[in-house]
Amino acid sequence: MNPNEIWQATLGELELTLSKANFTTWFKNTFISQLEENKVIIAVPNTFTKAWLEKKYHDAIIRALRNATNNTIREVMYRVEVRNTTIVPGLTTAADMESSYAVEVAESQRMQQPMQAEENNDSTNGLGLNPKYHFNNFVVGKTNEMAHASAQAVAASPGTTYNPLFIFGGAGLGKTHLLQAIGHHVAENNPNAKVYYVTCERFTNDYIQSVRGGRAKEFKDLYRNLDVLLVDDIQFIAGKEGTQEEFFHTFNALHQLNKQIVIASDRQAKDIQGLESRLLSRVEWGMTADVSSPDFETRVAILEKKCNEKNYHLTTEVLRYIAGTVQLNVRELEGALNKVIAYHQFKNIEPTMASVQSLLQSFVPSVPKRTITPRRLLEIVTAYYDIKMEDLMGKSREQRFAFPRQVAMFLLREEAKCSFPAIGKNIGGRDHTTAMHACNKINGLVKSDEQLKRDISLMREKIYMGGTSG
Ligand code: ADP
Ligand code: MG
Repeated sequence: MNPNEIWQATLGELELTLSKANFTTWFKNTFISQLEENKVIIAVPNTFTKAWLEKKYHDAIIRALRNATNNTIREVMYRVEVRNTTIVPGLTTAADMESSYAVEVAESQRMQQPMQAEENNDSTNGLGLNPKYHFNNFVVGKTNEMAHASAQAVAASPGTTYNPLFIFGGAGLGKTHLLQAIGHHVAENNPNAKVYYVTCERFTNDYIQSVRGGRAKEFKDLYRNLDVLLVDDIQFIAGKEGTQEEFFHTFNALHQLNKQIVIASDRQAKDIQGLESRLLSRVEWGMTADVSSPDFETRVAILEKKCNEKNYHLTTEVLRYIAGTVQLNVRELEGALNKVIAYHQFKNIEPTMASVQSLLQSFVPSVPKRTITPRRLLEIVTAYYDIKMEDLMGKSREQRFAFPRQVAMFLLREEAKCSFPAIGKNIGGRDHTTAMHACNKINGLVKSDEQLKRDISLMREKIYMGGTSG
């Protein structure tokens, strides 16, 4: 076998043992650079990947290589190397057309302060950064270590490791915290760096107002001159064509100049309905890392950290009780802790297991699950699929309405515990047999269809959390 065949066989085996996200993240653009009798040098695209492979996957790589070569390989090393010169695949057409503009921006070297919020009622600074969120108060666990490590890598050398960095995961799991931590880190290490944190909503409003006010050029000058742009909650860009267009050009201009872009989203980019494919492909150029619900030990560690910050003492037993009760997200975990502290400080009493238990009754899982109203559930489904309520209720058999309708029926059954007749009634006065059919169908599909599984789990997350955002 030649080195390429050996590597393909090795990758084939590794792929089986890793999640798809991990596999593509760490093994994309790797190849065998050198092969001697029993020694292999693997080329990796950057030092971050090198460190990660050495630390996390070395044993698995050796094992897979040995299997692929009849046990001849003894030694594996890693070296940063990029094949030929194309680092960014597919950087042609549209991006090229943008390049003249990008150069113009580079030459114009104008220092500009990011636009300030007129209604500056939050506690963020001019860079959009909130002093609360730093790397040193972010607790790392299994479910966020990759996102954390990539955020740190990007903060240490913006524009050179992963560009863009795309962080996704459910609500309250630390995405904003990480984006902000990157911003602080860069700003502290390089006071001249132009860093800007912006929510997608804010970007949209800034853009619309700048167009209306005849200040489109100012807007461009601001965003396209940044060194680090942090865009939060990008899922809200779905369906906003003008904003997507502007963001696309902003992205290209920054990317061409090796300026760092970091994006956070509540779902994978390909699951954002109504995201233009050219924008999707840009996002997929870089690194994707997810955050998910922290495990028990991490939740305890987070509570300990927050207690230390607040200089408040809770016994280990109480900390573990809180961590056991509030499982899904860190924001809620923090909320529970704040409630405990506020109550006991106000009453001026020491917290006990009994007092904490009675205080946190509302956090006991399954309670919010039962209180979801059919109306609210349908709002979540329509928002997720980006369709109108009347289309969900309506008679159209078009797949883009009919399928969400069936998913809605399924969720009404599963999450709102509705009877089949009630489901029919809730969805445009349909027959109970229609509801039964829909539930059976989705129930079957969800077992094999990964995409649907993800969609449903995202909607469930919204249902549990009682979130209001689409
Ligand atoms: P998201 O943007 O994913 O919805 P946030 O970043 O706003 O979530 O996090 C919600 C709250 O939980 C914030 O106060 C944040 O500081 C805290 N938090 C989340 N993850 C962690 C963590 N790993 N360590 C410490 N605090 C965390
Ligand atoms: Mg957030």
